[in-house]
Amino acid sequence: MDNILEIKNLTKVYNDAGGEIKVLDGVSLQVKKGKFIVFIGPSGSGKSTLLNIIGLLDKATSGEVFFEGKDILKLKEDKRAKLRLGKFGFVFQFDSLLPDFTVLENVNMPSLLKGKSNFERAKKLLAKFGIEALSDKMPPSISGGEKQRVAIARALMNSPKLLLADEPTGNLDGERKERIFKDFAAAASEGLTVLMVTHDVKAAEFADECYRIAEGKITLCS
Ligand code: ADP
Ligand code: MG
Repeated sequence: MDNILEIKNLTKVYNDAGGEIKVLDGVSLQVKKGKFIVFIGPSGSGKSTLLNIIGLLDKATSGEVFFEGKDILKLKEDKRAKLRLGKFGFVFQFDSLLPDFTVLENVNMPSLLKGKSNFERAKKLLAKFGIEALSDKMPPSISGGEKQRVAIARALMNSPKLLLADEPTGNLDGERKERIFKDFAAAASEGLTVLMVTHDVKAAEFADECYRIAEGKITLCS
């Protein structure tokens, strides 16, 4: 079985004053290892909800998410935390770097949280993304595009199997966006599985597979 991820009949329903909102309405999907998968949909279509459920940051209403063959939605919190730290990497839209730590310390942080600080690997990752010159800078003093590349380096620190990126280029202009898309495509070609949600249709050009998310359903991009 070469699917690293298998989503079966996933639903997410919110109840609010106006009644029920079915954000995910029976979503099923199979993802092979080493693919760069893009989900495109308008604001409010459930992109973050989908990614957060897969990343164990939010709970599903029903359905199953198999990661490496195991239904991870059934795991207890300690196992969930271990997966998030060890096997998943996260990149978010907005600046999520710790402002009082240097770029290098930010990238090293996941390994520190794991109890195995590894500045050598952090330096290598910065070099890989061509931003080693930023090592000693504080995040507030670098550009938006640089911040996102640092965030990607940080997400890769613990050698995750699955990278989850929620509109990572939301604040960037065209050229910087493409650079990030290319980074993800390159990481996928090295074996990392990347799920990225975006409202940028251009992302599809860089991905192995593209899905459209709308009205609670996922369909192949046309
Ligand atoms: P996207 O990331 O595509 O913009 P989201 O996944 O953030 O969309 O949200 C999908 C829908 O779910 C939106 O209509 C949003 O208003 C609704 N929603 C998200 N979080 C909550 C919540 N905690 N309570 C009620 N509705 C929510
Ligand atoms: Mg969102």
